[in-house]
Amino acid sequence: MPRYEYRCRTCGDTFELSRPMAESSAPAACPSGHDDTVKLLSTVAVGGTASAAAPAPSAGGGGGGCCGGGCCG
Ligand SMILES: [Zn+2]
Repeated sequence: MPRYEYRCRTCGDTFELSRPMAESSAPAACPSGHDDTVKLLSTVAVGGTASAAAPAPSAGGGGGGCCGGGCCG
């Protein structure tokens, strides 16, 4: 279950909650009981899709470029 980080705007405390993704935007009360909280942007390490952000190699050995076949001069 992913963990989400919240910050209480009443007492300024930050806290984490483990809750289903469907409830990630649901109101969360801080440990002190305040319900004026905001969800922080946190890195959720569940799923493992972060490595898919780098699409192409910068210098490949025959990855479709023309510099390998002599057409570049
Ligand atoms: Zn609070």
